[in-house]
Amino acid sequence: MTRVYTVASGKGGTGKTMSVVNLGTALALLGKRTIILDADIGMANLGLVMGLERTRITLHEVLAGEADVSEAVYELPTGLMVVPSGISLRGFQDADPNRLQFVMSELVKEADYVIIDAPAGINRDGVIPLAIADEVLLVVNPELSSMLDAAKVEAVVDIVGGSLGGIILNRVPPYHIAQTVQSISSVMNGQILGVIPEDSNVRTATAFKTPVVIRYPESPASRGYKALAARLVGDK
Ligand code: ADP
Ligand code: MG
Repeated sequence: MTRVYTVASGKGGTGKTMSVVNLGTALALLGKRTIILDADIGMANLGLVMGLERTRITLHEVLAGEADVSEAVYELPTGLMVVPSGISLRGFQDADPNRLQFVMSELVKEADYVIIDAPAGINRDGVIPLAIADEVLLVVNPELSSMLDAAKVEAVVDIVGGSLGGIILNRVPPYHIAQTVQSISSVMNGQILGVIPEDSNVRTATAFKTPVVIRYPESPASRGYKALAARLVGDK
């Protein structure tokens, strides 16, 4: 059975896109057929960070009813399959987020794992990815505002009948990992599934349009993402 994860957060900029890219790549490197999909149709950047910004057919065209899902799936050398979203305003206006459910029913036929990059917050477009996932993974930074906003998303996941898989704790200070994990787990409901340290290699790798798990495979963030991937595979 295909497992569908939606990676969400309350605040923007917590590391959702980096988590989708690196978790997806790590799963592909484990030999799993994995599709990552950019459902942040207003602020699309998954294609950009994967070097797919010039693709003509994206999720926009699919959601607008102008293309088949299969035409918007791009396979990378790692085997990872990417469904980018467009960045044009017109494309955004024409895209119908309600069709996302149909897109998903097509994609699950092709993959072991589908990972959705969700918009931040809890607006209309953001709620659909929370509802259609088998599990929502919340990306949380170790700071109060991020945790408070994440708690709101946890509540919305519940309201829309979604299921919370757990938390990816991202940008953890490298010298205070144990303390940070302990203090966050005492205030958040969800289980912490992955711990990703603050790591400047994440940004450097992005400048090369390459996931950090490929460019710097032994860096602290890469180890964190690979451990998370192994855990999800073990749990399935
Ligand atoms: P979101 O998709 O949630 O808006 P991004 O994944 O785009 O967030 O990440 C936001 C910024 O934070 C990017 O510049 C990224 O390079 C940086 N970043 C994300 N995770 C880490 C990390 N573990 N260490 C250092 N920088 C990070
Ligand atoms: Mg993003």
